[in-house]
Amino acid sequence: MADDPQRFRVIKGGERPKRHRARKRGEAEVLTCYVCEQDTGVATALTIEMKQGRMVADGKPQGGSKVIYCAHCLSRGKLTRLL
Ligand SMILES: [Zn+2]
Repeated sequence: MADDPQRFRVIKGGERPKRHRARKRGEAEVLTCYVCEQDTGVATALTIEMKQGRMVADGKPQGGSKVIYCAHCLSRGKLTRLL
């Protein structure tokens, strides 16, 4: 068992390049989830938009601030707020 070759190994110094160097200021970029990237190694995100801190008046919801959570994390039992 211990002599089995490792299929995957961490390459030292192989950090992701900094995003601000690749992109100009104000330019659009793909929204990715840092927790998914840590857990699965894939920088991706499936997002859910929700509202936080809503008020109810006459049975109708109003106000609140929009928040974006990662659905991949949610399926793994985590709650990661992206924006
Ligand atoms: Zn995630």
